[in-house]
Amino acid sequence: AREARDQRIAVIGLGRFGSSLAEELMRRGWEVLGVDDDERIVQQHSDALTHVAVADCTDAEVLRQLGVHEFTTAVVAIGTNIEASMLVTANLLDDGVPNIWAKAISRQHGRILERLGAHHVVLPEYEMGERVAHLVSGRMLDFIEFDDDFALVKTIAPDVATGVPLGVSAVRTKHGVTVVGIKRPGQDFTHATAETVVERGDVIIVTGRTQAVEAFTELR
Ligand code: ADP
Repeated sequence: AREARDQRIAVIGLGRFGSSLAEELMRRGWEVLGVDDDERIVQQHSDALTHVAVADCTDAEVLRQLGVHEFTTAVVAIGTNIEASMLVTANLLDDGVPNIWAKAISRQHGRILERLGAHHVVLPEYEMGERVAHLVSGRMLDFIEFDDDFALVKTIAPDVATGVPLGVSAVRTKHGVTVVGIKRPGQDFTHATAETVVERGDVIIVTGRTQAVEAFTELR
């Protein structure tokens, strides 16, 4: 049997990134401890989060008093102050927090956090920049790239996929992509099957190797 997932998280740094992350997790039913060394910022979030504290988390003792070592997941959402970001990450690692996410503001910063041992490093501005590049340059309405060169894309159906059932148009063997969802204008998304006939103007969700997916969305 799987253990119930621990839905508690400590978010260190309540700037733009940390606060939006914390609030989204609250909406998803998580218990969130938000910490910032700026009292004014903490006050702004005191009603929205489960617990808040004003503390300088570069101090290992202060962090321990907050009980952060009892959390299985913590996010270091400090960017601008790279030294503080590294110290807080090191403190969490020393305390054995098993699942540490850290935000970096540059690739160098990200590399250091990885070398320190942060379990997940995110580079929001770089990652968003790459994502928007895909949206700007292609016909994709939405784009998510996973590790290992695999992507999920929302796009207007190209003509090669329309008019006949997906099983017949054989987009998977011909184009290396799988159509997983379809949305008729004015309707909700439904799962696509081999019998689904995509019509002109339908919006579809496609997965596959990034290059294959991109090439597919460029077809007409
Ligand atoms: P963003 O770009 O997401 O707004 P910032 O790096 O500007 O990120 O914000 C980081 C937040 O982390 C700020 O609110 C800042 O007060 C807080 N912070 C910085 N250093 C510490 C620290 N040592 N302990 C706790 N919070 C800190």
